[in-house]
Amino acid sequence: MTTPEQMEKIVSLCKRRGFIFQSSEIYGGLNSCWDYGPLGVELKRNVKDAWWRSVVYERDDIYGLDASILMHPKVWEASGHIEGFSDPLVDCKKCKHRFRQDHLDNTEICPDCGGELTEARQFNLMFKTFMGPVEDSASTVYMRPETAQGIFVNFQNVVKSSRAKVPFGIAQIGKAFRNEITPGNFTFRTREFEQMEIEFFVKPGDDEEWLHYWKNERFNWYSQYGIKQENLKLRKHDDDELAHYAKECYDVEYLFPFGWSELEGIASRTDFDLTQHQTFSKKNLTYFDEAAKERYIPYVIEPSAGADRSTLAFLVDAYDEEPERVVLRFHPKIAPIKAAIFPLMRKDGQPEKAREIEEMLRPHFKVMYDEAGNIGRRYRRQDEIGTPFCITVDHDTFQDDSVTLRDRDSMEQVRLPISGILDTLQGRLEKSSD
Ligand code: ATP
Repeated sequence: MTTPEQMEKIVSLCKRRGFIFQSSEIYGGLNSCWDYGPLGVELKRNVKDAWWRSVVYERDDIYGLDASILMHPKVWEASGHIEGFSDPLVDCKKCKHRFRQDHLDNTEICPDCGGELTEARQFNLMFKTFMGPVEDSASTVYMRPETAQGIFVNFQNVVKSSRAKVPFGIAQIGKAFRNEITPGNFTFRTREFEQMEIEFFVKPGDDEEWLHYWKNERFNWYSQYGIKQENLKLRKHDDDELAHYAKECYDVEYLFPFGWSELEGIASRTDFDLTQHQTFSKKNLTYFDEAAKERYIPYVIEPSAGADRSTLAFLVDAYDEEPERVVLRFHPKIAPIKAAIFPLMRKDGQPEKAREIEEMLRPHFKVMYDEAGNIGRRYRRQDEIGTPFCITVDHDTFQDDSVTLRDRDSMEQVRLPISGILDTLQGRLEKSSD
């Protein structure tokens, strides 16, 4: 497990090397909001791409969607968010700090100053805003607190336009907003975040089987992309934790330095959402199953993951300290930069040759060129950002058209003909995701 001291080093590495910056930093920062820098944006895109590839491209039963963030206010009445999307909030009368009561372990005094706490009150987590030029209640809209509802309201559109047949799913990646009472732990809990959600529609009665299928499928995805087995677990929700509509739910949890915490929830939601939207919209949201000659409202299995949380887990899990170096051991598919190209010396045509190789590789993957400092330092700089391969041009390159390929993890160096670099890298990247 990563220690809290290592976590501090990860946070500072993130800033120093351009993974994650505090939002609006030059103005003193905005609490719980973060910006992904040049390397962070690549890392998070790779995480989202790996998810999309595994749930949309590698299957024939899931359709993609990108719904808008602002939705009709009735959506949130139907989904229960206006009424019930709240956490119990308590304030400290002395230091004024706020806490989620359910995070306080039954204590009645403020954990920060020992002061007296107020009674709990329900605090709605949705951000409100106004649509149009007049600030009246008629034009109140909400920033979506989850992407899921954009999927439910498009259920019939997807069935009709894509001739989708149950069982099938709809997948979406997008921003969600929650006015969390206690955001924190770096990017783990923020007020603006990205979700990666699937609603998978099944025939009532088949839900149990599909829940078990999806909980295994999603659990395996994290280890497929390099998260260590010992830091991952599946936890079944106790009955008293279940939302009122949920039949059964599992969380994929990761062992962060602050304890086991949820990366993704896989819930069996019955026909709750579609039924609610059918009632509130007065539109028919039933499905006609031609094979069974039956009409029904499908049941839903929902694997709901956080893009930022899993990016953080990939970062934390990849972090490794050795006596001589710090390494981010990212899976090559997740690594922000796949290869760095160096001239051993800044002379004798080596920089030009290295640039040629960089240009040859650039259309295929994210690569970078570096000629600053001695070669050992350049390797360390790449290790620290998790680049799996380094390619060095040297004096011999001009004799035999070959370069040195160095592997991040084993630090092994092999000689390789320039003509074979692309195939070798492509092969190593593909092999790594078997
Ligand atoms: P928590 O109990 O941690 O508040 P939740 O159970 O309310 O999370 P869900 O509503 O199940 O979360 O959301 C699905 C996923 O969205 C979570 O597993 C998480 O990865 C992500 N997520 C939810 N809230 C946040 C947040 N405030 N910041 C970052 N990611 C979040």
